[in-house]
Amino acid sequence: MKVVLQNLTKIFPSRDKKSGKEVVAVNDFTFEIPDGKLIGLLGPSGCGKSTTLYMISGLQKPTSGKIFFGDDDVTELSTENRGIGLVFQNYALYPHMTVKQNILFPLQNLKGADKLSKEEMLERAYNAAKLVQIDELMDRKPSELSGGQQQRVAIARALVKMPRVLLLDEPLSNLDARLRLQTREEIRRIQKETGITTVFVTHDQEEAMSISDMIVVMKLGVVQQTGKPQEVYDDPTNLFVAKFLGTPPINVFNGSVKGGKVYIGQDAVLEVTNVADQDVLIGIRPEGFELCDDGALCCTLNNVEVMGRDVSVVSTNEASVNPVIRSIIDADNKVDLASGVVRYNIKPHKLFLFNKETEERVYFEVK
Ligand code: ADP
Ligand code: MG
Repeated sequence: MKVVLQNLTKIFPSRDKKSGKEVVAVNDFTFEIPDGKLIGLLGPSGCGKSTTLYMISGLQKPTSGKIFFGDDDVTELSTENRGIGLVFQNYALYPHMTVKQNILFPLQNLKGADKLSKEEMLERAYNAAKLVQIDELMDRKPSELSGGQQQRVAIARALVKMPRVLLLDEPLSNLDARLRLQTREEIRRIQKETGITTVFVTHDQEEAMSISDMIVVMKLGVVQQTGKPQEVYDDPTNLFVAKFLGTPPINVFNGSVKGGKVYIGQDAVLEVTNVADQDVLIGIRPEGFELCDDGALCCTLNNVEVMGRDVSVVSTNEASVNPVIRSIIDADNKVDLASGVVRYNIKPHKLFLFNKETEERVYFEVK
């Protein structure tokens, strides 16, 4: 089921009587979620992710704009009639019911033509439980399950109605690191097996990048960029997006473009064309540095952190906006800590320029 969001806006009235300022939680959000895909809705806390999800679910009404499921305008439709499955961060299971009763619950309220026989309900519940691999826990209570198992029950409960759209709001945030990794792979597997169009909300860029067909990056209610995770990472539209994606994060420098060269301090790090002379912010991905004895960029060497296959070289430079610069280098390279300096050449496609005021991308061609 394709989902279309058309100029969706949500304005909350002021909570603070003194300032009287309303909150524009979501501002003119337009996007088409292709049928059967998993979309990662990504951004820092408070940027409007949940509000967007609640509007898709019908829990909140948009101030303006429309929502379509396929060709159906569902903007005015109640949550129960939208055919969605919802999963929250805190599982929201009924504590006094067994796993089986929790999963059966949404089916017991079906009415009219949708009403199922007892056998049909049980079959559906067991199928959903098998899909998330909890079919052996059906008689337990939620308190007798781990966090990961509880979240599986919540997912089974969302899937049992065979929803047209699956909506997940930070579903992994309460799990420990290992379970988070495992459960996100599970969610991807289930989504692929069922082919249900899915919106996955998270503030964790790595999580969104790893499982999404497409990501939508939001800031203060406004969509910044949409695209395949790798495309957005490789071609960020502004400094916010560049900084939000990637671990370790992108390194940012004050610099300039002068006479066809990109300067960090006195060091000319790249020859470019088709860009006017100007002061810029320069972003360089950690994997964009190449160790080289006569490299263009000279930094003061602080430390080398071993990460196994790679090492992280920590250095400083007066032009760096952040306290330290982190580059990721293949561990086979030897870094001479005693020398106190490190020199790099910069991989051109790992360097981005941004306007100093607007922080929008400044495009150039490599000479
Ligand atoms: P996210 O899920 O990305 O953390 P939310 O969608 O929950 O963000 O919130 C977006 C903005 O809207 C925030 O500034 C939040 O304080 C505000 N907001 C959310 N819900 C309400 C509400 N019911 N009333 C007033 N303001 C709200
Ligand atoms: Mg939220």
